[in-house]
Amino acid sequence: MTPPVIEFRGVGLTYPGPPPVEAFRPCDLAVNRGEFVTVVGPSGSGKSTFLNIAGLLDSPTSGTYLLDGIDTGSLRDAERTALRGRRIGFVFQSFHLLPHRSALENVSLAMVYNGVPRRERPTRAREALDRVGLGHRMEAIPTRLSGGERQRVAIARALVTRPALLLCDEPTGNLDTANADAVLNMLEELHADGMTILVITHDPAVAARGSRSVTIRDGLLSAAEGAVA
Ligand code: ADP
Repeated sequence: MTPPVIEFRGVGLTYPGPPPVEAFRPCDLAVNRGEFVTVVGPSGSGKSTFLNIAGLLDSPTSGTYLLDGIDTGSLRDAERTALRGRRIGFVFQSFHLLPHRSALENVSLAMVYNGVPRRERPTRAREALDRVGLGHRMEAIPTRLSGGERQRVAIARALVTRPALLLCDEPTGNLDTANADAVLNMLEELHADGMTILVITHDPAVAARGSRSVTIRDGLLSAAEGAVA
């Protein structure tokens, strides 16, 4: 049986302080392959802390986190970085595109540190941009693209390394309603294609677009089916 893409066993994080802050209280969570899960909570509820743990940017202070069946607690820093690069595609609220590089270059550069042979990169970058409906805008620099198009470039960049998980932090936070809707439709399409997606948001309307929503409040992740808090 395939292991969950994300499996938390009693995972929690307390910032040492002083005073110590229990920003993410120990919980169990499983996100299975092909799920589209949203994590919703207000400001200060622990969303960034959760994102940092799930994205291997920070280590939990309790429990065990298995990513794609791999126990991340036993890894050295370089191994964690490599695992993050290979298994997780990040999408951020503010796109984080290189401003003077074309869409194609932005997507291609994501493969440089991922061991994708140089000769394969242009084809893969084009395929990823086609996939997000930007095949006709590959040579454009970000300032010539709408917010929604920029976020679709960022999604293409996240997908081009063929991650196990697409991890999105407020992916529509900088977008107007029409562009936000286009990006959410894109995520739904990727989900329909079998991608595992985790979206972190403060916006209940965005959270409703996932196939399962988990709530976080005062550092406590709480249930939805499959999640035990
Ligand atoms: P959100 O992303 O939902 O706004 P955070 O995860 O940033 O919430 O914060 C959760 C709690 O942890 C808050 O009470 C915040 O003040 C606290 N916190 C965040 N980062 C740190 C840190 N580095 N040290 C101490 N407390 C922190």
